[in-house]
Amino acid sequence: MTQKTILVTGSNKGIGFEIIKQLSGLGHQVILTSRDEDKGQKAVQQLRNEKLEVFFTPLDITNELSLDKCFHNIKNEFGKLDVLINNAAIVLKEDRSLLKNANEVTLQTLHNNAFAQLSVVRKFLPLIPRSGRIIMTSSQGGSMSDPVGGWSPAYCISKSLLNAMTRHLAHELSHQEITVNAYCPGWVRTDMGGRSAPRTLEQGADTPVWLVNSEKVPTGKFFYDRKEIPW
Ligand code: NAP
Repeated sequence: MTQKTILVTGSNKGIGFEIIKQLSGLGHQVILTSRDEDKGQKAVQQLRNEKLEVFFTPLDITNELSLDKCFHNIKNEFGKLDVLINNAAIVLKEDRSLLKNANEVTLQTLHNNAFAQLSVVRKFLPLIPRSGRIIMTSSQGGSMSDPVGGWSPAYCISKSLLNAMTRHLAHELSHQEITVNAYCPGWVRTDMGGRSAPRTLEQGADTPVWLVNSEKVPTGKFFYDRKEIPW
């Protein structure tokens, strides 16, 4: 297996942390990022206790200055980024109804979960080589073909937008042979998913780890449990 340099946004906990753990265990050069430096350092220590090597740099995906610093840290340390995994996202507890949400709730969700993801891609693109990979962590809550679930509507719409961005980015980057795919981890037991979620962290992280390691991947597709699903 070829060793790759891989950055995962929002990887101090949850599915992002599990992706980092698995990829580090496979011998890749992984970059753990966290918007909170202390939480990031604690996550790194947890992995080092398990004899796993990771590089840490802070990153708040909604902050241009933070993006800039993170970009320079990675450029100086590695000079390239083979795989970018956009994982960081939020669900606000006030996100209950598109008609009743304060505008701020919907805008903050769209900003964090969609527009900021695009800023991350734009920032790191100069470091991504030909045949590099971009992986978007989406949700079937954003599906345009499944029935509407009725929960966290701004969050669901942010994932619909992320899916649309994935398709367009895949098209724009095809001439550089950079693949751009989205996946849904399923309903996973994390701070976001809650305790009653049926899936484990390992199940949630399986598809992105597979998208990193597969010899060849398509582009502009949406995956769940390693299988292509409709948008
Ligand atoms: P989680 O446990 O809440 O972790 C989310 C991570 O994103 C945290 O590290 C959080 O940092 C970080 N984050 C949020 N906004 C950020 C920002 N502006 N800059 C940097 N980091 C930021 O959630 P999760 O369940 O692991 O979710 C991971 C991904 O899977 C998300 O994209 C989510 O939408 C998706 N997903 C999850 C489920 C599920 O059931 N869990 C289902 C479908 C899709 P802090 O620790 O500082 O808050």
